[in-house]
Amino acid sequence: MASAPLLRRTDSARGDFSPLKHFVVAKKTISDVFEQLLDYVRESSAFVEETYGNKALENIASQDQKAKIQAYAEKLAVIQEVLSRRHMKVAFFGRTSNGKSTVINAMLRDRVLPSGIGHTTNCFLSVEGTDEDKAYLKTEGSDEEKSIKTVNQLAHALHMDESLDAGCLVRVFWPKTKCALLRDDLVLVDSPGTDVTSQLDSWIDKFCLDADVFVLVANSESTLMNTEKHFFHKVNERLSKPNIFILNNRWDASANEPEYMEDVRKQHTDRCVNFLVEELKVVDREQAPNRIFFVSAKEVLNSRMQRAQGMPETGGALAEGFQERLKEFQSFERRFEECISQSAVKTKFEQHTIRAKQITETVKGIMDAINIEAAEKRVAALEDREYQMDRLEFVKNQLNLLIHDIKKKIKAISEEVETKVSSAMGEEICRLNVIIDEFHADFHPSPHVLKIYKSELLSHVEEGMGKNLAFRCSNAVNASVQASQRDMIECMLPLLPSAVQSQIHMLVPSRKFDLSYDLNCATLCSDFQENIEFQFSLGWTALVHRFLGPANAQTALKLVDQNFQFTRPALPLARTPSSGPSSTVALPNQENAIMTQEDLMVAMATLTSRTSMGVVVVGGVVWRTLGWRLIALSTTLYGLLYLYERLTWTTKAKERSLKRQFVDYATEKLQLIVSFTSANCSHQVQQEMATTFARLCQQVDRTQKELEAEISQLTAKIEQLETVQSRSKTLRHKATDLEKKLEAFTNQYLQPQQ
Ligand code: GDP
Repeated sequence: MASAPLLRRTDSARGDFSPLKHFVVAKKTISDVFEQLLDYVRESSAFVEETYGNKALENIASQDQKAKIQAYAEKLAVIQEVLSRRHMKVAFFGRTSNGKSTVINAMLRDRVLPSGIGHTTNCFLSVEGTDEDKAYLKTEGSDEEKSIKTVNQLAHALHMDESLDAGCLVRVFWPKTKCALLRDDLVLVDSPGTDVTSQLDSWIDKFCLDADVFVLVANSESTLMNTEKHFFHKVNERLSKPNIFILNNRWDASANEPEYMEDVRKQHTDRCVNFLVEELKVVDREQAPNRIFFVSAKEVLNSRMQRAQGMPETGGALAEGFQERLKEFQSFERRFEECISQSAVKTKFEQHTIRAKQITETVKGIMDAINIEAAEKRVAALEDREYQMDRLEFVKNQLNLLIHDIKKKIKAISEEVETKVSSAMGEEICRLNVIIDEFHADFHPSPHVLKIYKSELLSHVEEGMGKNLAFRCSNAVNASVQASQRDMIECMLPLLPSAVQSQIHMLVPSRKFDLSYDLNCATLCSDFQENIEFQFSLGWTALVHRFLGPANAQTALKLVDQNFQFTRPALPLARTPSSGPSSTVALPNQENAIMTQEDLMVAMATLTSRTSMGVVVVGGVVWRTLGWRLIALSTTLYGLLYLYERLTWTTKAKERSLKRQFVDYATEKLQLIVSFTSANCSHQVQQEMATTFARLCQQVDRTQKELEAEISQLTAKIEQLETVQSRSKTLRHKATDLEKKLEAFTNQYLQPQQ
């Protein structure tokens, strides 16, 4: 225990290091620790509040922890305030005129309190230091600072103040600059004489419970009175082992009878020791002599006042043995200062130190709990993030695989549809005559009716073909498309956001997929030109057709027409199968004409040679046999046949012919668009599938974005948790540091002395 060293000092001045400094230093030390502790608890409180208020860091700090730390911060602020006002308090008791005021004045080295006039009032008088230059007093229940210039003024003031009740407190503030003792946080309380009151209990409650030392100022000229003893018995009941000093004052009187001095001193000492050790049991027998002193306060005060005025301290009329009595007074002062500072440090700071330790311990525990909670949450968040990252990786990889796979599937189904539509269309084209035969409408060769007839026929073909194709393909294609879509959804389902998974039907409605064949017959066959002019089967044109075949016949006939210089308009012709949908037969240019003329010459030569040979041979034979009758008959028959054919060339026959021509024409045209239409259908299917796939991909994209957002959220959370962990750790270390400081304070100031 580092108790304050006992320095030897003269009476001229207090030593540089008074034992009272022990209290002052301890107070400063513990105040500093409390200031740090308050800062620490405020910092911790802000940290806990911040953590508690952070939604992302749910359940790391609890409401209870937050409230607890906040309460601690408030409590510590109060304690700090209380600590700053802590002082050592000594209370002087004894009968009136025993010299209490004189003792206090002697200790203060100045006439601060009035003396010698009996106790001025029934009030308690406390003397404490003020930083101000002037002395003043405050009466109980008033904040008014009443200025006092002299002791007499004070005495007068107290005497005149009728408002002062018995047992009230008058606080005298004395400039610290004038008195070293007051600089060290010491408050001295003078009491009305123990003989003047019956209100001992209320005195004790009001003035004694926080007193660190009690000084019983006794009169050495008489014995210890029961009233005095009675008071200390009462104090002893309320406080555990109060520090009591007994000053046997007026010891200068003993100088008058030196022969009895030792006996009297022994008698007094025995009684006092007996009182302290046996009756009150507040001190050991060995320690007791350190609590009993024989002094003359009056002498000490006088000599100190003289010295203060620059006069020799022994200047007054001093009785024999003054020096010894002075020394004893000094000895009392030293013992008293040691005792009060030790005691006050313990009583004034011990409880607060214990409380501070508890608070530090609790806050440390809270920091530990937060640290553990944050660590657990961080591990969980790390695992969660790992899982989400794996999932993101999986979704990305899986999507790449699926894209490849699904593209292949879309291609396959498109090709399948193309084949299907192509073959169905081929079959339908073969059955075109059936569709056309089923068409019935008003027919008349007049151009106007014919135009309407043809347009209706086209619609009929369009509709009929469409229906038939739909019948052959649509259901199968639809089923196949739907199956593929289902397949696609099933593959991609695990990659979709969970909210979408349960509502997948909303995303991809299982509507019927309608394949549109879009034959567009009207445009396709827009330049169909029928030939329903009468043609005699044995006529020139027909014969040329028969012998030269349709291709050569047309050319030949055209050339003939040209050779006759277009004497009549050329017959409208159905276009040749090889001429394409929009082409018409162009007039041959010169070269072509020459070439074609040559061809024709060959054809004509062949025809002529064949015919002439036949005619020569047959004609010769027939002519010989039948002669001109046969020729007449033949001519008649030829005429009859012409007549017959001419008569049967009715409107019906013309319609039939037109339909036949249209079948040929449309067959040829439709053949041309088979691959286009099937490709178109295949494209539609591909579109449908691609749209579904794109929608699903969009959702997968959402999944990825959600996962990425979640991952970055988790990363932020992990960072926050790391911050919480490190801050809680730092705060924990700070708590440990403060604990060490409190422990050091306890060891230095609060451990019992060895
Ligand atoms: P209180 O009523 O206990 O405060 O006593 P005071 O301090 O007022 O003293 C009463 C009277 O005793 C005063 O006249 C003092 O001068 C006187 N007195 C105090 N101490 C001593 C002392 O040590 N020796 C002598 N001879 N007189 C003293």
